[in-house]
Amino acid sequence: MTKKSILLSAMLLVCSMSHSFVYAFFDTNKPLVLILLWPPGSGEGVLTVKVSKAFAIPHINTANLLRDASNEESELWEQARECLNTTGAIPDSLVMQLLYQRIKRPDCQNGFIMDGLPRTLDQTEEMFGALGPRFEILAVSIQIPDEVLLAKAEGRLICETCGRVYHKEQSPPEVPMTCDHCEDLLSQRKNDSLELVQKRLTEYRHSWEPIFRFYREKGLFVEVNGNCPMEQTFQEVKTIFNQE
Ligand SMILES: [Zn+2]
Repeated sequence: MTKKSILLSAMLLVCSMSHSFVYAFFDTNKPLVLILLWPPGSGEGVLTVKVSKAFAIPHINTANLLRDASNEESELWEQARECLNTTGAIPDSLVMQLLYQRIKRPDCQNGFIMDGLPRTLDQTEEMFGALGPRFEILAVSIQIPDEVLLAKAEGRLICETCGRVYHKEQSPPEVPMTCDHCEDLLSQRKNDSLELVQKRLTEYRHSWEPIFRFYREKGLFVEVNGNCPMEQTFQEVKTIFNQE
């Protein structure tokens, strides 16, 4: 069987799976590491929270790894803080160490969800080596076309005063360009300029493609439609695992 045909069988299995499956992809009942992948600006954070609740497994990303480490004032946090002070960034390798420390906690025994991690091919391979014996790993890529994300960013309006977010077409304020809540003037974020959004998307497709290929070649890569109401995407993710 070629890798392509294994993937195809896996996809067919998803479409035709019976109700007895929980982890249709896997031969064992090892706990699951679900890696959610989506393009920047898709605003899918809410989806992660929902999936985390539905599967009763914690959600881990760089931001909450750092928050937890700073609360615990661990040795790794000291290193992270030093990096932030000197270079303004935390190396990916340190983030991965924080991850390995985090998943030792009991709440990760039944698996966990990650998004935005690992960010390099080397670390993805390393993670497979480190976690593969204990967990089943599956990457789920949320598919949203660039033009949809561009339109989303182009129409996005924010209120600087209260932080509420509107969209010119999808969720317009009652009075054009005015916040419903505090009646202040709405504006567009500099970060939402088409040029910057396109640049971020191009970078995302380019830098994540080798990682996508890695999961794909292992037959551990599923695509779900993100160009629909979030509830529908959520149902699609649940269907993969037959979590009714
Ligand atoms: Zn406001």
